Amino acid sequence: MNSMLLIMPARLGSFGGHPTEDLPAARDATVLSRRCGNVDEEGSADERAERLIEMLYEQMRLQRLEYNLRLRQFASNLKAFQRLLFPTSENFIKYYCYIWQQVPLNFESRVFRLRDQEMMRIPEFVLYNSMTKQKEVFKPKVPGKVGMYVCGVTAYDFSHIGHARAYVAFDVLYRYLKHLGYEVTYVRNFTDVDDKIIKRANELGEDPLSLSSRYCGEFLTDMADLQCLPPDHEPRVSAHMDQIRDMIAQIIQNDCAYTVDGDVYFSVDKSPSYGQLSGRKTEDNRAGERVAVDSRKRNPADFALWKAAKPGEPSWDSPWGSGRPGWHIECSAMSSQYLTFSFDIHGGGMDLIFPHHENELAQSCAACPETNISYWVHNGFVTVNDEKMSKSLGNFFTIREVTKLYHPLALRYFLMGMHYRSPVNYSIEQIELASDAFYYIYEALQSCQDAISSFRERNSPEETQSNSKTARITPAAQDCIKKLQNDFQSKMCDDLHASDLLTGSLKDALRFINNSATMLKKRLQKQQQLALLQSLATVENEVKQVLDVLGLLSDLPYLKVLQQLKDKALARAGMKEEDVLRLIEERALARKSKDFARSDQIRKDLVAKGIALMDDSESTTWRPCVQVPNEQAPNPST
Ligand SMILES: [Zn+2]
Repeated sequence: MNSMLLIMPARLGSFGGHPTEDLPAARDATVLSRRCGNVDEEGSADERAERLIEMLYEQMRLQRLEYNLRLRQFASNLKAFQRLLFPTSENFIKYYCYIWQQVPLNFESRVFRLRDQEMMRIPEFVLYNSMTKQKEVFKPKVPGKVGMYVCGVTAYDFSHIGHARAYVAFDVLYRYLKHLGYEVTYVRNFTDVDDKIIKRANELGEDPLSLSSRYCGEFLTDMADLQCLPPDHEPRVSAHMDQIRDMIAQIIQNDCAYTVDGDVYFSVDKSPSYGQLSGRKTEDNRAGERVAVDSRKRNPADFALWKAAKPGEPSWDSPWGSGRPGWHIECSAMSSQYLTFSFDIHGGGMDLIFPHHENELAQSCAACPETNISYWVHNGFVTVNDEKMSKSLGNFFTIREVTKLYHPLALRYFLMGMHYRSPVNYSIEQIELASDAFYYIYEALQSCQDAISSFRERNSPEETQSNSKTARITPAAQDCIKKLQNDFQSKMCDDLHASDLLTGSLKDALRFINNSATMLKKRLQKQQQLALLQSLATVENEVKQVLDVLGLLSDLPYLKVLQQLKDKALARAGMKEEDVLRLIEERALARKSKDFARSDQIRKDLVAKGIALMDDSESTTWRPCVQVPNEQAPNPST
């Protein structure tokens, strides 16, 4: 119950839940109990409070109405219960606060909300803003709603793990904002008109738009594999020429751009705040990294809004002649199309701060002086073996290359292993460790499920059910849950420190599950077993909710995920499962005939390939493990 409230209310916002539709004025708790369902009179005030709130909560979920002032009535209902039923219940106040916290800010709740947060000491969500170079309390422009634009890929090839890193980072932000109850409009564009696309298409003798459309599709497959939720809008440049042309015309009209031979350039000298995001001064911007020196420009830092058509390139008509848009203008045009000129979060990789985001901001401000983006959020790079990843260095990995050998969610886990603003260093050792840690999560969840179902098989349903109502979860489980919840709350709301969570309290919860699952197999008193059973189910639920917000919870059964991980391990080892089973058999025979040298060798050889053997009293099974080169493999007999 406790756990449910701590995590679930946050989802209320996404249900648009309205709690009071069916509630009476709550003058009488008994009437209310009846309206809510059967609240029996058993148990302490706290227990009754818990049951009542659980039912109320269920009602809130069921009522899919707009937030409105009736929420206030709900709050007064809750206060009435508190007075009537639980005048001293601390828990009740706590639960009430959690629910109240979800009420959006669009009416007088603000005061209450702040007071309640104070009471609960729930830190507000704090996000690092590249513009101010500091962490700031997140406050959306429209209470309860968030607009987020993230620069997407240029679709001319398979996406690499640097892309995966960026979109996993923003997926975690997206999921967390939704978890906090915000209604988020997430926009991520596709650049489908670009020099690189045209070059590649010409090499392949393919139409540039069909090439980019193909790679947009491949990108979406990668995103689905990595469990990145689809954005609400995924606009493509080729479908937004009108908006782009309109914006360029507006910038020219506002005297911030000029035309030269069918090209249109943005004049950085007309943008007094140019450089505010990147900290660069325009005089620093000599012959840009991407742009060759062009004597036709008034300032070398000026950049193209429109490029005159060249033979063999796709082009569109415009008042300045046939051509195509420059790179930066598309994001200004598409973000304003879907989110207006004033929205909350603009994101992308750190390499986009300059010139892309600097130029975008200058354009948007030139087109519309009301342009206002609250938070600029940038993720760190992926390095490979501590070097910058680049095709020329030959240390370049596409998502597809990695997921051929590692589970996509293991890659996601790896990418989340560092704070989103820090660099992530990709190496075989690191992805092996991440994959192993990810296997451990599902292994623990599966053992939890096994323990629960085998217990249920051994005991009659009536017995399990009637007793489990009165069975309380163990103090150890309560501690474990509290720690996980507190950690989740405090780490995530502090600029999304998901990585700390993975290695900290989440791991502890999994260890708790493993220990409890083992204990449940032992001969214990029935009441103890039921308490363990309850504890396991509750901790499992808590772990699942955390994994869900982090995007690490698969829709598939645990066993299926474990099998997928094993299949990848076999692929890495270059083996089939029957090869492993044959070696297990061979090792058993060797052990039977006391040929321990041979049996150890088989084990070591398999560990070197990333396959670990596990013996129990009856049989030997295998699981993936971190590959240990043969000479380093520990000798199991020592
Ligand atoms: Zn962009």
